[in-house]
Amino acid sequence: MQTVPFLDLKRQFAPLKAPILEQFTDILDTCHFAGGPHVQRFEEHFANYCGVQHAIGVNSGTAALELALRALEIGQGDEVILPAMTFIATATAVLHVGATPVFADIEPEAFTLCPQSAASKITPRTRAIIPVHLYGQPASMEPLMQLAATNSLAVLEDAAQAHGAEYQGQRCGSIGDIAAFSFYPGKNLGAAGEGGAITTNRNDLADRVRMLRDWGQDRKYHHALLGTNARMDAFQGAVLDLRLGHLDEWTRQRQSIAMSLAQALSDNPLLIAPKSHNDRTHVFHVYAAQTDHRDAFTAHLNSRNIASALHYPIPLHLQPCLAFLGYRQGQFPNSEKLARREVSLPLFPGMTEDEINAVVCGIRSFKHNETDA
Ligand SMILES: *Cc1c(COP(=O)(O)O)cnc(C)c1O
Repeated sequence: MQTVPFLDLKRQFAPLKAPILEQFTDILDTCHFAGGPHVQRFEEHFANYCGVQHAIGVNSGTAALELALRALEIGQGDEVILPAMTFIATATAVLHVGATPVFADIEPEAFTLCPQSAASKITPRTRAIIPVHLYGQPASMEPLMQLAATNSLAVLEDAAQAHGAEYQGQRCGSIGDIAAFSFYPGKNLGAAGEGGAITTNRNDLADRVRMLRDWGQDRKYHHALLGTNARMDAFQGAVLDLRLGHLDEWTRQRQSIAMSLAQALSDNPLLIAPKSHNDRTHVFHVYAAQTDHRDAFTAHLNSRNIASALHYPIPLHLQPCLAFLGYRQGQFPNSEKLARREVSLPLFPGMTEDEINAVVCGIRSFKHNETDA
């Protein structure tokens, strides 16, 4: 029987091996390893791609979130509102700059930060909100930007899963004050290792991020800010610049596979397809189906050699390492429901017709008599 992996990066990298090796040779010849022209070229192209003034390459999405918060001068005593359903880095970045993460619930069908829930969490200490473009679909930016403007809050987009996704014609990463991207290998635009970027239209924030990633230097050995080493590696800059040219084609493939999966899911009353808003494009970093019979469904897929994953089985307010924040089960029902019911299906560029058909058949053949498993 057909074996369908959750993701196969080899198919994306194999055709790019020769041009990547050419770039690597160039870097070895010049020995410009940290930052430098390869990183700068990628930064220019990525800024253009996002429709934004500045893109600043760093060494991870986690570093991008932390430096964005530091550039906004958020720290001790400040509160930052973010969704309870996201990857843990969104919350740990807030803690690592000394501020307090304040969770809000997600919208029930789009899974991104709910503007009403976020509004209810605002206090005199709130300084910023972090909408996460979860699974590759932009958050409801118009009401969130309005909320931020009314309350003088900064908006930091966590765009780690949403390279190229558009909200009312604007690309993710160009809407808030500042944004953080990840180029972890499995992301829609991935490096051959670790990487991240900050995008912004604000010159003051861009200047500060450029200093912060390089030990806070404004000139050699003059440290104006308390910075760190978060510079992007030249090899990663070169790989990312080459891969950026293929991103739109890969996104189209993701969207086309998503249509096949949605069709199959809509024919099975036990399963629910993710919903897309029509004022935004979804780039399907994760294809998040839902079901009340998750264990049985994943076992059914497994028996047909089809991989699946969970994003994410535990919402952040119930994570053991964040217990000290004092949240309880039941506080964010939409996040908790998604954590119980979500199943991520295989969807990646280079997936074959046979593999897509195998997943479609796996979806269609899941029946009631399996659900007591
Ligand atoms: C991947 C991810 C991050 C962290 O990025 P890294 O490059 O792995 O540090 C942050 N936020 C979200 C939503 C992510 O998916």
